[in-house]
Parts: sequence; structure tokens; C-alpha cells
Amino acid sequence: MSFALAVAVSILATLPLGAKPRVRIVATGGTIAGVSASSSSSAYTAGQVTIQTLIDAVPQILDLADVSGEQLVNIGSQDMNDEVWLALSKRVNALLGKEGYDAVVITHGTDTMEETAYFLNLTVHSDKPVILVGSMRPSTAISADGPANLYNAVAAAVSPSTRGKGVLCCMNNQLLDAKSVIKAHTIDCDTFEGGPAGYIGYVYNGEAHVLQSVNSRHTVNSEFDVENLTSLPKVGIVYGYANCSPIPMQAFVDAKFDGIVLAGVGDGNFYKDVFEVAQRAQADGIQIVRSSRCPTGPTCLNSEVDDAKYHFVASLDLNPQKARILLMLALTKTRDWQQIQRFFMEY
Ligand code: ASP
Repeated sequence: MSFALAVAVSILATLPLGAKPRVRIVATGGTIAGVSASSSSSAYTAGQVTIQTLIDAVPQILDLADVSGEQLVNIGSQDMNDEVWLALSKRVNALLGKEGYDAVVITHGTDTMEETAYFLNLTVHSDKPVILVGSMRPSTAISADGPANLYNAVAAAVSPSTRGKGVLCCMNNQLLDAKSVIKAHTIDCDTFEGGPAGYIGYVYNGEAHVLQSVNSRHTVNSEFDVENLTSLPKVGIVYGYANCSPIPMQAFVDAKFDGIVLAGVGDGNFYKDVFEVAQRAQADGIQIVRSSRCPTGPTCLNSEVDDAKYHFVASLDLNPQKARILLMLALTKTRDWQQIQRFFMEY
């Protein structure tokens, strides 16, 4: 019996005959819940419509699953923060754990969806499907993309093929894994991209198809646990450019941040004035992680910068915003730079 078939059989075996999978939609806002004054205008406000309105707009999802919803917050995801992440992670763990739901779908703004997906990928301890979904056009727009995306997300949530793949984003018929997904276009519906291998699956005619495995550690294999945390370590990002000012890096140091991620030029390189501040910060116990402003390619360990000498960490395949999340979680466990580098190799 194939693995996918075995998983499907094991899921069906846990459901009473004829029962549909129980899917909980946790709503957080975003453009999928956005409203504009006119259906043809690009001006709108995210996070206006409630979860029940979203569910009522797509009654077809009730054919796929026993769907219910709850509203966690109703914000544009530009306002996503640590407090909501912690609450969301704890809620998803409870829904998939003691409350016994079969899958969770999270409606979310697209701006920071990749960050929330990666945070949950490291802090939700279940192999049941967790699917983030949003839209690029508000609910009132001509040809709004939210309803089809929500339908696809529920289809993905009930599919055995998404189980054990970690947290996924479902947008524009595609399934993207939490580690590699990025928002790549400011306004297109086809905004999300995966890593070098692209999206890992797709949803078509109400059926999800996952084509690739996910190799990094996540969910049930993650050693990070936020269950008892009420806050996260403070980590900021400094953007690199020619003739870069050291002022932002110094400001994070003065504000006693626990870590700083460099969105460096090229392979995570610093401007010389910034490098000096970074070196002092690292020596004073503020962990520096080098990442890159380049949209593709890894930030390599010990290449142009001698990380071993300065105790910097290279973000490898993580972009700066995801490196920030892993560094925050890493700092909940250790201040040892080698241990932190190991996290970046495994997650
Ligand atoms: N600013 C919106 C948000 O992230 C954009 C969107 O959802 O597409 O909430």
C-alpha cells in the first residue's frame, strides 16, 4: 500500500461512516476579508468582513467538510505581531489536539502570510493539515479571488496528500510550503512563489495534488515550543545597500535587541561601517544572522564572511523575514551561535 493511500485509510478509519472531516477556519483578516467602496476600485480596507460572512459566501465548502469558523483577530497582516502569532499557534495546537479537529484553515493577509506560515511550521505540533489562505482582491471586487482560494484551501485541508507536509499556503490554485513560500508581486493574484523547485502541489476541481516532499524539519519534528511563552525575543532586520548607514544596526543594539538579521547585499555581505557595529554587537552577546536581500539563492556559511571567526550565523535558505522568526525561536532555547547555526541547517 502506498504511503498516501495508507494515510488516507488511517484518516477514514478514524471518521464515523459517512462523517465528513471536521475543518476549523480560524480567521485573522487580510484582503480576503477586505471591503472597498466600489467593486472596480483598488482602494480598500483589509480585515472588515467576519468569518461567518466568508463561509456563507462559499457554501460549496460544506460539501467538502464539516466546516466551522472562529475569528481570532481581524487585521491587515501588515499589523501581524508576536502576540497574535503566539495566540494563533496555541489555538491551532488546541484545535488539532484536544479539540480533535481534522484540519485547520487560516484566513490571513498576504503581506506577511509567509512569516506566519513559517512560525506555525515550527510551533504547531501536529501532522494534520494546516492551510493558510488569503486573496489579493477584496471580497467586494469584480472577480474577487478569495472565494475560489477558500474553496481550494478547504479541499487541501481534507486531502490526505497534505498531511505531514507542514504548514502550507494555498493561493491561486497552488500549494506552497511554509519554508520556501514568498510573496513576490505587490498586486498580482499570482503573487506567491516557492523555492527553486516552485510550488509543491496544486488544487484543481476540489482535489489537492502534492507533487513534492518537504525535507526540512517542521511541526511534529520541531523542537520549538511556545505553549508557555507570553513573549518572544526581540529580533530586528537591517537592510543592506551601497554606502549603508550603520545607524539602524546601532539603534537595535542600543535598544537591547537579542538578535539582528542582516538583509545583506549578495551572499549576505555587510557595508564596512555596518560590519564594525555587527562585530561589536556579536561580541556583546547580540546574535547576528547574515541573510540576503537577493530574492533567490542561499546565504552561505564562511564564504566571503568568516562566520567562524566572528560567530555570525548564516541564514542559508531563509530570507531575512524568515531568518528573523527562526532566530527568535532559537533564542528561546540557546545563546550558543553554533547551536543556532545547527537550527538554520535543519529548519
Ligand atoms: N495588506 C493586506 C494584508 O496583508 C494585503 C492582502 O491581504 O493581500 O492583510
